[in-house]
Parts: sequence; C-alpha cells; structure tokens
Amino acid sequence: MLELPFDPPVQKIDLPEFNRQGVQVFIKREDTIHPFISGNKWRKLKYVLREARQLNKTHLVSFGGAYSNHLVALACAGAMFGFRTSAFVRGEEVNNVTLGLCKTWGMQLQFVSREDYRHKQELFDAHYGNNTNVLMIDEGGRGTLAMQGCAEILNEVKGFTHVCCAVGTGTTLAGLAISAAEKGMVAEGFCVLKNAEGIAEDVQQLLHHQTPFFMHHRFYFGGYGKADEGILQFISSFASSTGILLDQVYTAKMMLGIRTLIEEGYYQEGSKILAIHTGGLTGLLSQW
Ligand SMILES: *Cc1c(COP(=O)(O)O)cnc(C)c1O
Repeated sequence: MLELPFDPPVQKIDLPEFNRQGVQVFIKREDTIHPFISGNKWRKLKYVLREARQLNKTHLVSFGGAYSNHLVALACAGAMFGFRTSAFVRGEEVNNVTLGLCKTWGMQLQFVSREDYRHKQELFDAHYGNNTNVLMIDEGGRGTLAMQGCAEILNEVKGFTHVCCAVGTGTTLAGLAISAAEKGMVAEGFCVLKNAEGIAEDVQQLLHHQTPFFMHHRFYFGGYGKADEGILQFISSFASSTGILLDQVYTAKMMLGIRTLIEEGYYQEGSKILAIHTGGLTGLLSQW
C-alpha cells in the first residue's frame, strides 16, 4: 500500500529563455504521479496515511480553502485507501471544480466563517473531540511526516546544483532542503504569498534550524490565488512550447521566478537547476 508505482521523470526545458548565461533547467514531473493526488500532495500524505492505518483511524478530517489541492488529494486518497474524509472549508458555501471533486469522492464538507476557521483546534474539538476514530490533518497537510515524504522527491536525483519549488506552507521546501543538503544542492523556494516572510521561520522550525535553504519573496505576482494576464499568458506560451501545463497559483509563479533570475544573471554559469512540478492542475481547471 502507498508506494508510488514509478519515480516521476525529469525532463529538460528546451527553451532559449531557460538556457542562457550557461544555465540549464530541468523539471521533475511530480504532476504525473496521479491526476488528483498529484505532485507534492501525494508525497505529503504518504506517511500521514500510514500513521492513520497504524493508529487504526478510519476517518480523516482536514481544513482548507475553496481551491485547496490538499483537500482534493485527501478526498481521492481517502476513497482509494478506505478512509472516510471530512473537511472544514474556509468561507461561504460555493461550488467549484475543486469542491465538486471532493464531494464526488465522498468527502463531507462543512463551510465555516473565516473567524471560526482561524481557531482550527477548537473547531475540530467541538465536532470530533471525543471521536477516537478520527485523525486530524492540518491545513495543507503540513507537518513533519509530510516533510519526510517530500524529502523522497530527490531520492533518485543526482547531478544538479539547485532544486526549486513553489512555497505555500513551506513543508515541501523543508523536505527538499533535507535531501538537497545531503546531495550538495541548494534548495530554493518561491513563495506565492504576499508579505509572507514569516513562512521562512516555519520552515526553519520544521528543520530545527539545522538545514540551509533559501526563499525568494519577489515572485508572488499579486498574492495568493491571484493571477494576472502575464501569468496566464506565460502558462499558455509554456504549455504550447513544451506540452507541460503549469497552474496559476503555484508552479507558473516558480517557473517565471526562475526565468527572471536567469535573466538577471542570478545563477552562476554551469548551474543545473531542477524545478519540481508540484502538480496542482485542478486549480487551473477551476479558473475557467
Ligand atoms: C500545495 C501546493 C504547493 C505548496 O506546498 P507547500 O508544501 O505547502 O509549500 C505547491 N505547489 C502546488 C501545485 C501545490 O498544490
């Protein structure tokens, strides 16, 4: 149970704008792991689901916004592996592709006000406090077990100087940083939230301040969930010249960030960059 059928392939990005200043860029296609438990969400859930089994939990309860890729992944994985799933969803009741998929896999959704959502533990305790069958999973699946799963993204990888990923909670970056340090690579995160310098501290805490990483804070393009015309155009030109779909919330911002940094001469000649495609394509489908 819960093993990946294959290690996702690494592909070169053969575009002139990613091949200048003596730099080369490759992309690890974690998005190909599964259509809906895609990218880092599978990596993040792997050990959490194992723990749920070991503790004989039958019902997984989590939290997220109305566009949460984590909830889609959890709903699908729950159905596949025989767990009941429920989620507290932030904000007023809405219908969209993300939540429609969650419901299709049998996830029970409960919409809660932004104010109530801020107090997650209280919410959980009020609804499930006495229920020993239930395992609470934090927003975005964040945490130490999730970080351990993300460290495995680099298991088979060698020969790169840098590994790059988009940053939401920073859990994926923390996992990559652990493996990158062992392999002599630099781990760089591209934060997709505005004014979110505090996330670097969350990452440091997960890593017990022992492992180096770097986080860029310039490439949020308007802020979390915002996508201007430039981002959408970039997604379209990237897709039409490589065949690879990026999502507007995370991966397109990372790739644009990398492209900008190469343009600016940030990476030394000879750098070999591995960008992680963390999936998230439900977000792209949700916007039309
Ligand atoms: C959730 C998500 C991220 C963010 O991962 P964190 O571990 O929370 O930083 C990045 N990319 C995609 C596509 C995601 O769905």
